[in-house]
Amino acid sequence: MRHTNKIYRIGDVTVTKIEEMRLNVAPPSFLYPQWDAEELERNLHWLTPSNMDATTGHLIQSIHTWLVRTRRHTILIDTGSGNDKERPLNTIFHRLQTPYLQRLAAAGVKPEDVDYVLHTHLHVDHVGWNTRLVGGRWVPTFPNARHVFARAEEDYYSSPASHNDVNVPSLGVYEDSVAPIIASGQVERIGDAGGAFLDHFVFRPSKGHSIGHMSIELRSGDEEALFSGDVMHHPLQVVRPDWNSVFCEWQDEARASRRWALEHAAERRLLFFTPHFAESSAGYVTRHGDRFDWRYE
Ligand SMILES: [Zn+2]
Repeated sequence: MRHTNKIYRIGDVTVTKIEEMRLNVAPPSFLYPQWDAEELERNLHWLTPSNMDATTGHLIQSIHTWLVRTRRHTILIDTGSGNDKERPLNTIFHRLQTPYLQRLAAAGVKPEDVDYVLHTHLHVDHVGWNTRLVGGRWVPTFPNARHVFARAEEDYYSSPASHNDVNVPSLGVYEDSVAPIIASGQVERIGDAGGAFLDHFVFRPSKGHSIGHMSIELRSGDEEALFSGDVMHHPLQVVRPDWNSVFCEWQDEARASRRWALEHAAERRLLFFTPHFAESSAGYVTRHGDRFDWRYE
């Protein structure tokens, strides 16, 4: 079932998921190198069927962006994987043809309507629709948008240091999906400390999955939400925050940021918008002593 059109309200701001892909490809042993079978067994009753495919044993995930409409602006949080990208080493993302822009249009948004794109980080599945292939060139998809991300992400992914290992999820991504929007003058950078942005947002540093990763808080009226970014990839990590995904680049920081996000979400009772959980991809974290629980909303 698609949840593309469910509309969440945070004060006078609305949030809608725009789906790009639903994934059923990752065995837990791949996504979480530290996994153990007993822990999985203990959680099977709530993981299946929507978070885990009992037949294949794969974890079910989603790739999508969040469409945020404030009184003044149309905003996207991250931009998925994009079409036509050459990702021969990362076949899930290789030469995709998804109807993402049609789904965005169905939600009432044309590419030229987007005012801002806020990025949690610059990995392959978060910057793809920044550009599209037109006449053999990568051109900005959202011609009127300002793209906002951490300066540390740009510094790192534009450097040879980030391209040395073919397993780095962003190999080649900077060149086709980030450099063109820098060249077109559409980028605003956020410093390491994060900070407030526009009327409703606060960039909260959550380094670890990537070098300058940011979670993005949304406040309107007395309501709060958090676009967590990749501090977690699957609800299994709500019960095992010590498990890093195979894609987390800075291990200790990734664990610390995950714990921060969970504690913060539970304490503030904020609506938690994930980039990769299945079902609605949004929900609430509750704390019970030392452990956390997840409930989809
Ligand atoms: Zn991701």
